[in-house]
Amino acid sequence: MRSRRRPFRLTSVGYRSGVDVLKTGFSILSIHRAGPPFFRSVVLPVLLVATATLSLGAVSILWAVNSSNDVSAERQLRMTDRSIRAVVQELAQQQEMVAIWDDAIVELNKSPMDLRWIDANIGVWLSRTFGQEEVYILNDRNEPINAVIDATRASNHEFERIRESISSLVAGIRGEPGSSHKDHAAENAKAPYLITGRAIHDAHLLELLGRPAAVSVMKIIPETDAVPYPHGREFLLVGIRYLDGNFIKQVSDRNLIEGLRFSVVDSPQSGEISVPIRSDVDDLIGYFIWNPELPGDHLLKDVGPATAIAAAFILLLLGALVRRLKQSMSALERTVLELKASEAQAHHLAFHDVLTGLPNRALFEDRLNHAIARRQDGEQIAVMMLDLDRFKHVNDTLGHPAGDSLIRDFSVRLAKLVGGQDCITRLGGDEFAIVQVCTAGTEDPQGLCDRILAMVHEPYDIMGNQIFVGTSIGLVLAPEAGTDRSELLRKADIALYRAKSEGRNCYRVFTPEMDETVNLRRVIEEELRIALTTGEGLEVAYQPQIAMGGNTMVGVEALARWRHPKRGYIPPSQFIPVAEQTGLIVPLGEWVLRQACLASQRWPDLFVSVNLSPVQFRSCDFANHVISIVRECGADPRRIELEVTESVLLDEECGTAGALRALRNAGFRVALDDFGTGYSSLGYLHRFEVDKIKIDRSFTQSLGQGTKAAAVIKAIVSLGHAMSLTVTAEGVETEVQKNFLRTAGCNEMQGFLFSKALSQEQITWLLTQPSAKENQCYVGGPSVFKVG
Ligand code: C2E
Ligand code: MG
Ligand code: MG
Repeated sequence: MRSRRRPFRLTSVGYRSGVDVLKTGFSILSIHRAGPPFFRSVVLPVLLVATATLSLGAVSILWAVNSSNDVSAERQLRMTDRSIRAVVQELAQQQEMVAIWDDAIVELNKSPMDLRWIDANIGVWLSRTFGQEEVYILNDRNEPINAVIDATRASNHEFERIRESISSLVAGIRGEPGSSHKDHAAENAKAPYLITGRAIHDAHLLELLGRPAAVSVMKIIPETDAVPYPHGREFLLVGIRYLDGNFIKQVSDRNLIEGLRFSVVDSPQSGEISVPIRSDVDDLIGYFIWNPELPGDHLLKDVGPATAIAAAFILLLLGALVRRLKQSMSALERTVLELKASEAQAHHLAFHDVLTGLPNRALFEDRLNHAIARRQDGEQIAVMMLDLDRFKHVNDTLGHPAGDSLIRDFSVRLAKLVGGQDCITRLGGDEFAIVQVCTAGTEDPQGLCDRILAMVHEPYDIMGNQIFVGTSIGLVLAPEAGTDRSELLRKADIALYRAKSEGRNCYRVFTPEMDETVNLRRVIEEELRIALTTGEGLEVAYQPQIAMGGNTMVGVEALARWRHPKRGYIPPSQFIPVAEQTGLIVPLGEWVLRQACLASQRWPDLFVSVNLSPVQFRSCDFANHVISIVRECGADPRRIELEVTESVLLDEECGTAGALRALRNAGFRVALDDFGTGYSSLGYLHRFEVDKIKIDRSFTQSLGQGTKAAAVIKAIVSLGHAMSLTVTAEGVETEVQKNFLRTAGCNEMQGFLFSKALSQEQITWLLTQPSAKENQCYVGGPSVFKVG
């Protein structure tokens, strides 16, 4: 029997729900996409791997399901087929029990037949015992002599319904010529039914009355020789078993085939399979249709949801992992961005000034390096160093916010003046620098300096105050002054220093001579430091101060002298500024003060003036220090005069006014030195309560060179007298000057006309001279001291 199977249609849920889960997973991933790079580098690969893995899993499961279903269906097919074949076999076996039997022949040959016996032993018995639906006994003329339908004796005419259908089979068993079943009889006949080489039985599948049926025809023959064999006149036993109805139920129950049914047409429902049933002559009788057992589907039903949940869980897990990864990456990206931002900020801070936003020294030096490296022939690079004049005063009087505001405003103005390719920097405090690349057609550096000076003069509106400041500029030009960056900066600094020392609010162009001065200053500093430790070469000279009335020496001014063992005499104008810049003025000043105190004890009738530098006043306890030194030396403060310049009064740090007051209270007299060269402010005189003003020698020496100096001297003298101050004129060199000053009302004079500064011994010797104190006559000339 050939079988034809319909392909199974699977409607299970596993695969579909897997895709849904996958889609869900995808949507999760999509929602949390981290932009194309993250999507491409992480989400997509994960998605692909997950899809591939799940698809592979789903396909494997489906394949296993299908295979399992196929195997099961195949088995059921085989079993059904075997059942059908078995029924044909069984029919013969059942018939054999009664067909090879002496008694049966005897009873059938009786006339009349004992139908009750025949029912009980043949037809009804076979039908009842084995479920044969129809049993017929045919005589040798093939006429029915007994008919049983469903275990009940029926009319023999019933045979006529099927006669036609089985005639060929009957003819075949009788061995009649032309029978299509003849050959089959021999084929189908099994050994027990082959009697003396001839078949006694044949069984076939047929369509009977439109139903599939197994029909078995067997000759009724004796089993022993007691009954003669009826050759050619055998009775035939016909057994019919329909393959629908009961048989189907039996097969279905026995083989656990669900929903087995017979159908003339091939009309399986969804999920059913059909098997065609063909007669032995290959006529299609109909189809067995049933619901195949699908263990794969059961398996899918059982494990499918769990697998789908597991897949969904894995996808969710992957989604969560990707999300976590994205968060980590986002955090990392944020950290990287923050790092980059702070790096950029740090980079900006590293190269820019916080207050003004201008490039700082590092960037400025880098730009200068670039400018030098890229300088073309004929091009000049100007380096300018700027320093705001009186910035400290603004800071001190208006506070640091005002100072900051001034710096910012100044930098804005400066930026407007400087070309785009030039670089401005704030080096710190009130110091700025500019690199200007001067090509043909650009402004020359001096022109720029002039414009800066003019610009800076404009008043600044700082926190409601109008502020006027100036600036000093040091200018150096490359390649004239070299092309080494640090050298250029150093030289610009020297030029700036020169601009400051030459009155400020101006610019100075660096010259090699400035460099020499600087070098000399460095040497002086080093050697002065040594001299202060060893004491070698340092002396104090004393210049007499003469009372105007009777040309009497009333005091001396202690002046530091340095006779260098190798360089010879170094004037105070050279080493005092260096000492002030380096702080060496503090030990030097203290040393001079001690010397002066000691000397004053030898000259009880003289006062001794000592010069004090503004730098010394910066030490906050300065007044007490001076007082203690004087006490230590055993000197009388009332005979010590302290000379300060106006700059000391300007420097209000550490309470200069308080220090001066403390010193005056301790008995010292205070003289304002070099009066007229500074601010010459009446306010200062009031505030600081000085005892004396010393007219600067520049005024004295200008006498006779126009009327201006004379007028100034007269004004200062009147001013001093008005304030009850002693007025001393410095630098008196000529009789004319002396006479003018006497007429003008000066109280004291000091100058080469009377004496240069002398040694302590010389002063002492002078004082021992009988006429030294009164009616002395000094004749000008270095160290010439004549007693008249
Ligand atoms: P100063 O305090 O004004 O001292 C007077 C200066 O004028 C002295 O110069 C003196 O020699 C000079 N001089 C006096 N009479 C005449 C004159 O008729 N013609 C000319 N051309 N000059 C005259 P010196 O000694 O060179 O001192 C210069 C300056 O150095 C002093 O000016 C003072 O400011 C400073 N100095 C000197 N010694 C000391 C010191 O021990 N401490 C401090 N802080 N400064 C000192
Ligand atoms: Mg002086
Ligand atoms: Mg002076």
